[in-house]
Amino acid sequence: MTLIKKKVGVLGGGQLGRMLMEAANRLNVELVIVDPLKNSPAKQLSSGTHIDLPFTDPNAIIELANKVDIITAEIEHVDTKTLTEIVEAKLSSPESINKNQKYGVENVNVYPSPHSIRTIQDKYLQHKVLFENNIPVAPFEDCPTLEDAVKTAQKFSYPFLLKAKKGAYDGRGNIVVKSESELVDAWNHLSKNKISSSDSSDSGIYAEKFVAFSKELAVMVVKSLDDQFVCYPIVETVQKDNICHVVWAPGCIDGLQAKKAQSLACNAVKALSTLPVNIQTQNPDTPAAKSSISKIPKSAGVFGVEMFLLTNGEILVNEIAPRPHNSGHYTIEACETSQYENHLRAILGLPIGSTNLKVNYAAMVNILGTTNKGDHNSENSKQNGYSAMDSIYQNILSVPGATLHTYGKEEAKPGRKMGHVTVVSDSPSEIQHRVYQILNIIDGKPF
Ligand code: ATP
Ligand code: MG
Ligand code: MG
Repeated sequence: MTLIKKKVGVLGGGQLGRMLMEAANRLNVELVIVDPLKNSPAKQLSSGTHIDLPFTDPNAIIELANKVDIITAEIEHVDTKTLTEIVEAKLSSPESINKNQKYGVENVNVYPSPHSIRTIQDKYLQHKVLFENNIPVAPFEDCPTLEDAVKTAQKFSYPFLLKAKKGAYDGRGNIVVKSESELVDAWNHLSKNKISSSDSSDSGIYAEKFVAFSKELAVMVVKSLDDQFVCYPIVETVQKDNICHVVWAPGCIDGLQAKKAQSLACNAVKALSTLPVNIQTQNPDTPAAKSSISKIPKSAGVFGVEMFLLTNGEILVNEIAPRPHNSGHYTIEACETSQYENHLRAILGLPIGSTNLKVNYAAMVNILGTTNKGDHNSENSKQNGYSAMDSIYQNILSVPGATLHTYGKEEAKPGRKMGHVTVVSDSPSEIQHRVYQILNIIDGKPF
């Protein structure tokens, strides 16, 4: 007996797709994964047929649209042009009928909406939309040329950040510029690696003022198809080398601050999931704008909102992800409904599950690949079938309250997310103790 008959297509088949697959398997929802890796982490958990092509490939997206009812993404760096065409083909204007036939996608929905994904995947545009909607963000400036970057340096003073507008993750694409002598190198490095843009006068770089935050916070927000916004608890995230290292849930901030952060995050998601990019700057009361607004397909799904808490209590939004997020892994063991299940519920139009914590304290620690720990492909592990990663995994299993997730990635390249551990406890001192135990196992130090 199948409760949900709709098939869901997922662009990207990494660890987020894998945990989405775990939730989908439990609900008996069929997922079709698009990922160039034949044996990607998500595909390993399903015997269904998948698409072994890049999630940026328009043909892969069209092939997917012909197989499923709903398309979603576990990564924001996807081809939003084709996703927009699919959504537009669904609108019943006469000229869209042809496209409809061309793609065979008359019943396919895309969640979150391609508008949301497109705005979010360009971090400069995302900042601009948030700023225009009165969401506090770090001061930022477009830097289409090196001269603009030099002017911005005078305005922001050092240190400040140059950031790639597109394609960034785990801090790859961010450079903290500490002096004038570093500026030219940083600008050249980012502009050389820019993700293609139709506008050749745009370097694809923008600048952000350096924020001396006291803590980094994050929260998962669920947006339902009927415009409910439901928040998970505020968590504290600790980054190491720009990569999420440890997440503490709930975050150690006072109740009023937590409410303020949740409401800010909901407003930020609202700003990014309502108006389409091309009418942001128009008067929304004009008939043309009203008509385009009425045609905009709904956005739905979970969004990860990263924030900075300043010493004066002010909260700024850093960035938003239109998908399940690393800072929400803990929800699998610690909340009444996980972020993965709620993502599926939101895009399938099912009731949103409770986001309450069901334990007192939880924490999550990421396990990254390193060179010195050896990997599954090293000569040593090929010979004895046992790698240093395996010994880390084994030791983690002995920590009380810990749940180990491994992602099934073959190569443990340095910095690659290989797995994570969630640990739960009734007491704040015990959770801290358990997290330190795990960190010591990962760092190879005795506890
Ligand atoms: P993700 O993997 O989360 O998508 P990303 O590559 O998009 O990361 P950001 O979130 O922009 O990168 O930045 C990574 C980290 O760098 C942040 O979590 C924060 O620690 C630091 N950072 C980013 N922007 C600023 C800023 N304006 N001031 C100070 N630190 C910053
Ligand atoms: Mg990012
Ligand atoms: Mg980030």
